[in-house]
Amino acid sequence: TKYVYFFGSGKAEGTAQMKDLLGGKGANLAEMTSIGLPVPPGFTISTEACAFYSTHKENYPEGLREEVLEHLARLENLMGAKLGDTNNPLLVSVRSGAAQSMPGMMDTILNLGLTPDSVQGLIKKTNNERFAWDSYRRFMQMFGDVVMGVPHHEFERALQDVKDTRGIELDTDLDSKDLQEVIARYQRLYKRFTGEDFPTDPIDQLFKAINAVFKSWNNERAIKYRQMNDIRGLLGTAVNIQSMVFGNMGETSGTGVAFTRDPSTGENQFYGEYLMNAQGEDVVAGIRTPLSIETLKEVNRKVYDQLVDIRGILEKHYKDMQDIEFTIQEGNLYMLQTRNGKRTIFSWLRSQVEMVEEGLIDKETAVSRVPSGEFGKLFAPILDAKYIRDNSLEAITRGLNASPGGACGQIYFTAEKAEEMAAEGKSVILVRTETSPEDIGGMGVAKGVITCRGGMTSHAAVVARGMGCPCVSGAGEIKINEPKRFLEVNGTTLSEGDFISLDGFTGEIYGAKIPVKDSEIVQVLNGSMKESESILYRDYKAFMGFVQDLKVLGVYTNADTPHDTQMAVAFGAEGIGLCRTEHMFFGGDRIMSIRKMILANNTVEREKALAELLPMQRSDFEEIFLALDGRPATIRLLDPPLHEFLPNDHTSRHELALQMGITVEEVAQKSSALHEFNPMLGFRGCRLAIIYPEILRMQVRAIIEAAINVKRKGVEVLPEIMIPLVGNYKEFVFTKNHALEVIEEIFSEQSLKVPYKIGTMIEVPRAAITADEIAKEAEFFSFGTNDLTQLTCGFSRDDAASFLGAYVNDPDKQFYEYDPFATLDVDGVGKLVEMAVKLGRSANPDITLGICGEHGGDPKTIAFCNKIGLDYVSCSPFRVPIARLAAAQAVI
Ligand code: PEP
Ligand code: MG
Repeated sequence: TKYVYFFGSGKAEGTAQMKDLLGGKGANLAEMTSIGLPVPPGFTISTEACAFYSTHKENYPEGLREEVLEHLARLENLMGAKLGDTNNPLLVSVRSGAAQSMPGMMDTILNLGLTPDSVQGLIKKTNNERFAWDSYRRFMQMFGDVVMGVPHHEFERALQDVKDTRGIELDTDLDSKDLQEVIARYQRLYKRFTGEDFPTDPIDQLFKAINAVFKSWNNERAIKYRQMNDIRGLLGTAVNIQSMVFGNMGETSGTGVAFTRDPSTGENQFYGEYLMNAQGEDVVAGIRTPLSIETLKEVNRKVYDQLVDIRGILEKHYKDMQDIEFTIQEGNLYMLQTRNGKRTIFSWLRSQVEMVEEGLIDKETAVSRVPSGEFGKLFAPILDAKYIRDNSLEAITRGLNASPGGACGQIYFTAEKAEEMAAEGKSVILVRTETSPEDIGGMGVAKGVITCRGGMTSHAAVVARGMGCPCVSGAGEIKINEPKRFLEVNGTTLSEGDFISLDGFTGEIYGAKIPVKDSEIVQVLNGSMKESESILYRDYKAFMGFVQDLKVLGVYTNADTPHDTQMAVAFGAEGIGLCRTEHMFFGGDRIMSIRKMILANNTVEREKALAELLPMQRSDFEEIFLALDGRPATIRLLDPPLHEFLPNDHTSRHELALQMGITVEEVAQKSSALHEFNPMLGFRGCRLAIIYPEILRMQVRAIIEAAINVKRKGVEVLPEIMIPLVGNYKEFVFTKNHALEVIEEIFSEQSLKVPYKIGTMIEVPRAAITADEIAKEAEFFSFGTNDLTQLTCGFSRDDAASFLGAYVNDPDKQFYEYDPFATLDVDGVGKLVEMAVKLGRSANPDITLGICGEHGGDPKTIAFCNKIGLDYVSCSPFRVPIARLAAAQAVI
């Protein structure tokens, strides 16, 4: 097996397609080399080598060491320099790079190859003594920290000590002598922590560094990052060994990071940051706040123009927005990385829509790229601008608009505290000087993140954008006193727990509690904002046009109020796939009427209570039919066990007793008579309608009368009556016959007919197994995968959380790949669904098939539903656009 791939001077052994083997960084370094961009030569050790190392007790596969040495020799030849040489030393960087980028999660070592000998060589070669010593110092620090685990802050302290004794403030003010003093201290520090001398053999340094990168694949934060981002099935990380170029060789050198389009908004403009006289890590680590790329024009016009050219070349070549890293060494530009840019969902949407308009990509490509998992964030809240105006609120400071969205919450200064307070239910804003990978947990629970240092590409910014968490970075006027838990900014002091609001679109920060409100898309859809006022809406509309053209699956909604129905229709729902009628029974007089119905002693009393409910239900349905404007509505008859409607507390029982003219004891006694040990397997679903057909009759009457009333207004109606929890076709036939009787009754009473369908849910395993028998009688099936999962796996929907987390997340117990209540368990429950589809269609080719469990809004499940040929999925209103996108992606 070949483990090492070379790239340099216009030729490369790898290509951009080889990401799995070379990692994203390695594959793209190879590709950039091949297309003639200035890339410092080097070589990549494959992810297969890392996989071998991880699974063979940290041993190399046979021949790897020799292969690395061969490629090193080749690199030395090409560069005319030698690792560790006293006259002309080669220095290399050693970087990780997996197939999917994991920013800041793994380790990088720069300036490798410096030793007491070669540092002299570097002095001769560069004629810059200070630079050479500083490079050596940086190398020792990174190597010590990353490879050997010497605490970072120990190095920082040693450095600070030297600065203090010299009375110096900035690192850049340290001279060669000072730096040699720092190095001496670092050597002692290194020895104290590792028990060894700092390695002076460059080959020894190299292999130690390679091993550290291999090992970093399984460090805690890398594992956590993969978990949080659902990154699975990768072999490991590749290791890139590349000849160094220096951005810190003086004022004509520098380093930067850029995006070919705005990663925050998606606007088609070159977007980037750089620092002169700095090394790559200085920009990313957020220690100095970098300058905008525009200003590079004034510093070095030639390099700026070359970068603009490269921007165009890369976008044309990769046909997507690129995120690049570059270094300028004494006026010459070098490309160190390109990759598809991470961006906000806003940026995804705009960049893809505009790329289709520009003719760069087709709509299939655009649709396939936009992450469905993020899509919901388009509808996320923003700070209420009107509230800010009305209360004349002024921003207390501003930083960079690093990740969009408005957020308001209470200030906490550490990730641990943030996690703790979020667990108590607080809305948390994490405020830190800068964030590091250790803060991931705190960022994950925060409503928003603010940092004082760092640019658009700092850790905080990149991670927050990835999480869809609003973030303002580089708010440099904020001074945090972490031990005393307060911050000061422009004369304002805010303490831990105080409210703060941030606007991730503008970078503004307010020392106040500001309401957050609907996204622009939602505002346009509900008519509170004009279409022409929102670029976001324009992009959304164009994009959903692509989606609509591609998708095959229908997308319906689970809605039981007119308001939800309207919203869902505005989001593109093609009908209601599940209207849970029990939700209509709560609130106001209705709950009293239904309680009377439940407590009735006989059919007459029950029918009296039901008669009270009829007009309420009917008017609910009328409003829903109107909101649907001719689209179908699948309305499910009463499903939950009746005791769910009865009061538990004494006061409400008392009230109910008074209203009904009975004693509290009677109420209590009825309640306890209805008590069940296993209510989810108890007296619910069609069983209610079978024992009390009058409930069914009332509901069917309400549905059909409402449909007729709406039809009389000139609006089309398509009611579909759905019987829940059927397990045996005889249950279905029994209930259907009652329904048909009522419908015929109404048709003759009203001398008007409406089209209708009667069908059932498939949510009991027996129903799936006997789907052919049921399909002979039913016009549609809707898979109720919540109950079907509960009953197939034997996991209580309400109690499974106590162990299911471990079943999904514990590395040694991943019995289920995903939470089976969120993503359909394709191998188990999915098989039943597939079987019922086949049986159902074989018995009734005209049957309509859909899904209305929670899974109907889950992109992975939607792909499965598309595959097995369902007609539609149904999900909650806010998931409708996500489901439409997922349905289109399933086709591509
Ligand atoms: C289901 O069981 O999947 C379903 C949609 O019904 P409910 O969630 O109301 O039980
Ligand atoms: Mg159900």
